[in-house]
Amino acid sequence: MSNALRPRIGVNKDTQFFWDGLKQGKLLIQHCKACDQLQHPPGPCCKHCQSFELDAIESTGRGTIHSFVRMHHPVAPPFESGHPIVLVELEEGTRLIADFINSTPEQVFIGAAVKVAITECDDEVTLALFEPASM
Ligand code: ZN
Repeated sequence: MSNALRPRIGVNKDTQFFWDGLKQGKLLIQHCKACDQLQHPPGPCCKHCQSFELDAIESTGRGTIHSFVRMHHPVAPPFESGHPIVLVELEEGTRLIADFINSTPEQVFIGAAVKVAITECDDEVTLALFEPASM
């Protein structure tokens, strides 16, 4: 087990709400008040209609695996070789990429039901990881 820290998160004015939400145990998704679309990752304006009238909704944190990879190379602590990285389609319809934890290889497949596992990795980094919905 490595004691290496995870990479630092990229916080700016457009993403601050997302990271603050995770610190409060909430998975927040950016919402456009003009066209009612959701988007992730957060940005300065709506990618659908270019409006700057944005707020956020709280996701249920439930979804399914839309796609996944296993990272084998390069080995980069603290990540273990072969760990799964999933593209999750949330119930709300947006997708996000995350590490998949607390799983066996048999639990990583397209269409698998998953749920968010908001994880405080260290003093600075709290992430939205995902795990099997049955956990
Ligand atoms: Zn919009």
